[in-house]
Amino acid sequence: MFFLFDFFYYPIFHRRLQYEKPYLCAMPNEVVLLHLKSVPHLQGHGALEQSAAYFSGYTKIFVLVDENTEKFCLPLFLKKLPHLTVTGIIRIKSGEENKDIRTTSYIWQQLTRFLAERGDLLINLGGGVITDMGGFAAATFKRGIDFIQVPTTLLGQVDAAIGFKTGIDFENYKNQVGLFAEPKAVMIDPVFLDTLNEEMLRSGFAELLKYAFIGDIPLWEMMHMRHFNEMKEDLPAMISLAVRDKIQIVEEDKYETGLRKLLNFGHTVGHALETFFMGTDTPASHGDAVAAGMICATWISSQRPGLECVASDMIYRMIDRNFPRLVFSDKDIPAIMQLMQQDKKNRAGKFRFTLLHKLGKAVPDVEIPEEEVEKSLLFYLRNQ
Ligand code: NAD
Repeated sequence: MFFLFDFFYYPIFHRRLQYEKPYLCAMPNEVVLLHLKSVPHLQGHGALEQSAAYFSGYTKIFVLVDENTEKFCLPLFLKKLPHLTVTGIIRIKSGEENKDIRTTSYIWQQLTRFLAERGDLLINLGGGVITDMGGFAAATFKRGIDFIQVPTTLLGQVDAAIGFKTGIDFENYKNQVGLFAEPKAVMIDPVFLDTLNEEMLRSGFAELLKYAFIGDIPLWEMMHMRHFNEMKEDLPAMISLAVRDKIQIVEEDKYETGLRKLLNFGHTVGHALETFFMGTDTPASHGDAVAAGMICATWISSQRPGLECVASDMIYRMIDRNFPRLVFSDKDIPAIMQLMQQDKKNRAGKFRFTLLHKLGKAVPDVEIPEEEVEKSLLFYLRNQ
């Protein structure tokens, strides 16, 4: 089965990425226009200045922000689009804990209060919480009003705002309710990243690393054995490569029936760890949890034919250079496994992982016995 998937899936992704040279990504002052299905994605410094046309033709325009993006991003956004007339700002509280039906209901209430109509536009200015929840609120309000995603975190720019998934958490399950909904456009301007703290940057960096591990060798070459703090100047170029990667994958597989599962590399264990630490005094950031998950998935990959020791060691070293290890013990493993059972990616109680066949070559949807997942967590604990 391993090689069957390898044959079907890998060549589509790898063939395109393998020959893509770093110089094809956005130069510091270049804006690149890419399309995912028919949705324009503008990416690069100056993306917003060049996007005015996408905001025209609407009767009313609303902007969804949280307290941080209102403070750090909204003034910049309005400055870059001086001719934009905004009818209303909808403010919500930041944080994953607010990505729920109560806040969504508040957004619907505000849209109702502003007499929003089908011909109006909601701009989602924020991280993944805002783009996920704002996209969901817009796509369901009056059976759908237009929305534009303006991601302001690194994670939002390389992942959350691309690929049409919108939704909210429900009864402690992440992204339990939602739908695939196409925005009118996505504007990815790295200018917003200047006000992110180190932990927020790390969360996005984990996703950048993931693209490198699963298929993007030029991206890997740009980051290889460096600390992400040394890479700030290269971020626009790295974002550009990652955006292309995600667009290529989603283009082939919008509804996650095959290739898109590659993007889950490290996320099965990562999400379980994130949830496990949520209720503790030391919550784990998304990036640190995914980094741990990538170590576990790499170890599982190394137990099969394919991934060589040199490559797995390089991956562990790169992750450890950039991410702190999460602190838990053998005793916590059953609870973490229990959380993993609830992952939407698993079917019929079986664990399904994206694994690496080699660095830059991934295989989605491999069935993994429970004991092996447990062993990968032990490996994580014992090899630091
Ligand atoms: P987030 O949206 O919670 O943002 C993190 C914090 O950064 C928040 O406090 C926010 O207010 C603040 N912030 C945002 N932009 C800022 C800026 N420019 N300067 C200063 N502060 C800023 O977190 P996130 O990491 O961006 O996104 C996580 C969410 O994304 C999760 O809910 C996850 O489920 C979702 N996600 C969705 C997809 C998808 O395909 N739809 C993919 C990955 C993740």
